[in-house]
Amino acid sequence: MSELVTKTAVCAMCHARCRVAVTSENGHLVDIKEDTSFPRAGKTWPRTNACLRLRGAKEWMYHPDRVNYPRKRIGEKGGGEWQTISWEQAFDEIAGKLTELKQKYGPETLNFTGGTGRTMDEYVSRFVHLFGTPNHTGSGLVCHGPIAVMAQIMCGWPLRHRTGLTIEHGDSKLPATKCIMLAGINPAQSVPRLWNSLRQCKSDGVKVIVIDPRRTETAELADIWLQLRPGTDYALFLGMINTIIQEGLYDKEFVTKWTYGFDKVVARVTPFTPEKTAEITRVPADKIVAAARMYATNTPALFPHGMGTEHLQDASSAIQARLIMTAICGNIDVQGGEIMSGPNGRWVSAPDFDLEDLLAAGQKEKQIGADRHRLLSYTTRGMIQAEIKKKWGAGCGSSPPCAEAHAPTVYRAMLSGKPYPVRAAYTVSSNPLITMPNSRLVYQALKSLDLYVVNDFFMTPSAELADYVLPAATWLERPRVYDNAGEDSGLYAGEAALPASLPGEYDHKTDYEIFRGLAQRLGFGEYFPWSNMEESFDYRLQAMGMTFQEFMAKGGYDFPADTFKKYEKMGGFATPTGKLELYATTIAKLGYEPLPPYEESFENPVSRPDLTGEYPLMLITGARFRWNFHSEYFQVSSIRQRHPDPLVQIHPDTAAQLGIKEGDWVCIENPRGKVRMKCRLFDGLDPQVVHAEHSWWFPEKPGAEPSLHGVFESNINVLTDDEHCDPVNGGWPLKTGLCKVYLEAEG
Ligand code: SF4
Repeated sequence: MSELVTKTAVCAMCHARCRVAVTSENGHLVDIKEDTSFPRAGKTWPRTNACLRLRGAKEWMYHPDRVNYPRKRIGEKGGGEWQTISWEQAFDEIAGKLTELKQKYGPETLNFTGGTGRTMDEYVSRFVHLFGTPNHTGSGLVCHGPIAVMAQIMCGWPLRHRTGLTIEHGDSKLPATKCIMLAGINPAQSVPRLWNSLRQCKSDGVKVIVIDPRRTETAELADIWLQLRPGTDYALFLGMINTIIQEGLYDKEFVTKWTYGFDKVVARVTPFTPEKTAEITRVPADKIVAAARMYATNTPALFPHGMGTEHLQDASSAIQARLIMTAICGNIDVQGGEIMSGPNGRWVSAPDFDLEDLLAAGQKEKQIGADRHRLLSYTTRGMIQAEIKKKWGAGCGSSPPCAEAHAPTVYRAMLSGKPYPVRAAYTVSSNPLITMPNSRLVYQALKSLDLYVVNDFFMTPSAELADYVLPAATWLERPRVYDNAGEDSGLYAGEAALPASLPGEYDHKTDYEIFRGLAQRLGFGEYFPWSNMEESFDYRLQAMGMTFQEFMAKGGYDFPADTFKKYEKMGGFATPTGKLELYATTIAKLGYEPLPPYEESFENPVSRPDLTGEYPLMLITGARFRWNFHSEYFQVSSIRQRHPDPLVQIHPDTAAQLGIKEGDWVCIENPRGKVRMKCRLFDGLDPQVVHAEHSWWFPEKPGAEPSLHGVFESNINVLTDDEHCDPVNGGWPLKTGLCKVYLEAEG
């Protein structure tokens, strides 16, 4: 007899990570609703129950294109011909090939590609470290990695400002926060939890400042919108800091007692008068001053993490300046400001679980790209974590995003064999052919490999180039404990709501089970002793004195109360000087200049006037749009119908000059390539700037070459650059680049 069963799960279809109640019947999904018993329920906008992605989850889970059994390539790579094989055969053959390549080239010949942290990446990293490769790449260099590591270096722990949890109203009617400044983030499209908080805070009288080249929904909500020239964020922040210092608006007591290097900050920012800053950024001087005053005089203030800053060629400098502004205005570890929560302490968090210490020092030194971009190297991570463990008693963050090989250099190594051969890749939760810069080079690199394995739900363009595709379990089919990769003391959990395997229908596996199957054949199975993820959670929750099921029965969450100004009791910050380092000594130790002079990015109308005749427009990309999540859900018709085509925003005056109308298909071209998108007229950006969506591919188009689901048609990474990366952290520039746009019919 059939019976309805309801289980609590954590949705992973975007970074809001809502807790939901999933009802099933005989293992089949019936319904999903928000878990209203959860303390953080009702804190997203749109509301969880109205979320289009969640409403499309059933179609996604049972989509006819879903990969349901392991596949092995037959015929040519990219030829689209596959054979269904058993898990046993897949494990045996992949492990056999990995052993052969390891013996021939060393374990560093294997590169992992990861995604946005919606799997539990510490399970992947555990496998990576035990296999012995230092090459784990992903999107972390243009996502959370640089700011997480910079905050660790300067403040001794990451700041909890990425999802807006600190400005949820909780018990108090008015938030303690008095001002929120956002740079390079449009939560209306990308962070539903922060967007909800922001709207409520604004209606409660909190001041809002938005820094963005585009008049986004978030910019429309702002008290002050600073429409800067793309790529000039660092100069703007220096100018704002200068105003704050010149006008004496900073927290003098905190700066004197608890910071290091204020004099060096003063020296760097002094030339950035409002007028000079206005000249560089094209933001009027009076607006720069007004924004600086608003931020500095309405404390505690928040400056949430925005990816736009990470997408700059000088991201590491801009992030330092952001953190300086936060610190000198007294917003560190205070209620309503940026909290450094410290570790949970009663749960084996990512940095303790991923066995990074078992990766030999000699192997860590082989991490590709770490010689050029040293901030996110394993060696630097070791230095930082030593300081953090001394003060907090536990490490924080995970590798990746806090230690990553430099993806663009790794793809080049696959082709050149330098500094050594990279002959194998393993993709988990990512789609590098779409999300990495210089897609055509990535294509050649992946195609050249001796072994390419992909764990995924669907045949993505990257999966089409694989030798083996393994059917991964979705968030509905696996349990989860979410702890923000050990960066936050709070954690919450959800169960596997559906079976990962239903005989006769599908046979998926969790990442843990997949890596366990491989580890057993590769000689390190003893490090994967638990038969499933839930048993591993039993182990990780031991210090709480309960099993995973007992934890769920008690609500499935643990949110220790926040405490503030912990540095006072801890005898300072977890940095080499014990102070909050406005001048980051670790950056200096790595051989870089902390707070370097401002420089123009590699390709814009100021730095390359010689190119503007042929390519007169500035191209910016990398922003998310609400319906999808990066390269996901394009095959889900209920989602796709809301946003069927790739869009490029063009100012109406520019479009008129080019003979382009709303809805016309246009070509966007630059020295690196050409793609097609549909014109969306938008007067909220400078006429010289165009904004193109990222991550587009077409699951409905043929998977076999040459199409690969239309991978080169509208994928903006055909045009992005992989050579002019941030010198310190290695992130690639997405907010600078020249292009021309013309009607497709004229191309
Ligand atoms: S996809 Fe929707 S329901 Fe799922 S976590 Fe994101 S906002 Fe929440």
